[in-house]
Amino acid sequence: MNNIATAEQAEKNYTLTLPWLFPLMEQFTRQMLEGRFPSAVLLSGPEGVGKIQLAESLAASLLCTHSAAAETPRARLPCGECKSCRLMRGLTHPDFLAVEPEEAGKVIKVDQIRALTDFVYARPQIAQRRVVLLHPAEAMNLNASNALLKTLEEPSADTFLILVSSHPARLLPTIRSRCLKTSLSVPNAEAARRWVAERWTGEGVDRALLNAHGAPLRALEALEGGDDDQRMAVLEGWRNVLSGTQDVFAMAEEWAKLEPEKLLDWLMSTLHGQARSVTLGLGELKVQALYSELLDIARGVSEKRNLSLQLLWENWLIRSKARE
Ligand SMILES: [Zn+2]
Repeated sequence: MNNIATAEQAEKNYTLTLPWLFPLMEQFTRQMLEGRFPSAVLLSGPEGVGKIQLAESLAASLLCTHSAAAETPRARLPCGECKSCRLMRGLTHPDFLAVEPEEAGKVIKVDQIRALTDFVYARPQIAQRRVVLLHPAEAMNLNASNALLKTLEEPSADTFLILVSSHPARLLPTIRSRCLKTSLSVPNAEAARRWVAERWTGEGVDRALLNAHGAPLRALEALEGGDDDQRMAVLEGWRNVLSGTQDVFAMAEEWAKLEPEKLLDWLMSTLHGQARSVTLGLGELKVQALYSELLDIARGVSEKRNLSLQLLWENWLIRSKARE
């Protein structure tokens, strides 16, 4: 999911609509009121719990000129009407910088961090401060990380850095230690269900939440993207391969057209699931072997090696079919 300001979006709303994050937002706005909002924050937690939405709301709150005079945490939320808020909505605020990979899945380069540094040390133009949102922070390569570290070591007054990461362990420890770390977790099941059900009237809410490990935004995204149907079709196809009613090569050809990350996720969670022996009739050793092969494929995919997915899926399906 990518909710960071991008040029093709005409207008953006910064009102936080994720109830499970309200207490955390209030805690942060209280810190703003009391002038002790940290100069660098690291928001971590699983995909799909609202880290970016929280980060964006924090940025808008920090920049809002009306709320700067607020006396309660609630009034410290972005007003939506001042010049700063209007510029944020139009994605043209000169005191806000979003840093993300130039292409999805690529690294954040040192040049981008140099631009960030220039931004941080320049004077605010409209608001009383400047805000940087960097996401996903783990996408920084080593040079970029080192460059950011320098900026963190010499923080500029009235500049706030908000780092967002689903994999904080991949950040340099020295970067982690210079940020105030806040870890978001999945909301309780009822809150998650209510939020998704308010936005999705069709079936499959519970299953989507289960597949998303309880992360509401991820579940909704999967429902809206038709993932649930696709996932069922994949598992049905695999079951048919195992029972010999589906051709391996045709199946692999179909699978090669799917996003490998999604497919891996579905297959892994199926192998991981409790009912695997019942639904697939595979022995424990076989399950382990297939799972570890999926890990190998996942590694290749994440390293962006030039893989023939069709061949990989063919081999994998053939092995899943073979007798132990
Ligand atoms: Zn405002």
